[in-house]
Amino acid sequence: MTQWLFPPAPTPSLPIVGEARRFPVRRVLCVGQNYAAHAREMGADPNKPAPFFFSKPADALVVDGADPAYPSATANLHHEVELVVAVGEGGAIVGWAVGVDLTRRDLQSEAKAKGRPWEAGKAFDQSAPCGALTLGVLPDPDAVIELKVNGETRQSGRLSDMIWDPAGILAQANALWTVQPGDLIFTGTPEGVGPLVPGDRVEATIDGLAPLSFTVQP
Ligand code: MN
Repeated sequence: MTQWLFPPAPTPSLPIVGEARRFPVRRVLCVGQNYAAHAREMGADPNKPAPFFFSKPADALVVDGADPAYPSATANLHHEVELVVAVGEGGAIVGWAVGVDLTRRDLQSEAKAKGRPWEAGKAFDQSAPCGALTLGVLPDPDAVIELKVNGETRQSGRLSDMIWDPAGILAQANALWTVQPGDLIFTGTPEGVGPLVPGDRVEATIDGLAPLSFTVQP
């Protein structure tokens, strides 16, 4: 039996709607600029030949019912509501969730300007709130994806607005890595990203999936 220097960190996981079992998370991949209107609002060309990826650590997940802290080292925390794809055994998509890709936009912009990696802007602690997983096929490929802050709608789009659909994203991810059971993929955000401040109440929804809500802690 392995003897540890200190107890290993617990396996990050998501609850599953209607099940006692949990989904064990291996890693979190994220797609950038997968909705044309969001690519344009970020000053990018939406006519890209292939999606691009970045990642967050699995322990950056914040499950529904928990509240992320306002992160250090930023004055411009942004929300990005996203469809999350969950990969199961055999590398197939087994479920879906609502996630929010929290972003330290000032640090990401600085990294872009200097040609540096995005980790400080994207992969920080508690940067990946994610709702419960719904197993099975996507309830409605044309579903509305929406994010409200303090009751006001900030982002609203349709999943069918995605440049790359989930199957296309999975194929592209598999060209770069071997996607494994437990992998989550955040599939990009529609337009309307914007700042969050401590105390803001965030409600993120996709028709047919479990909603996600949290309050940004000071
Ligand atoms: Mn994103």
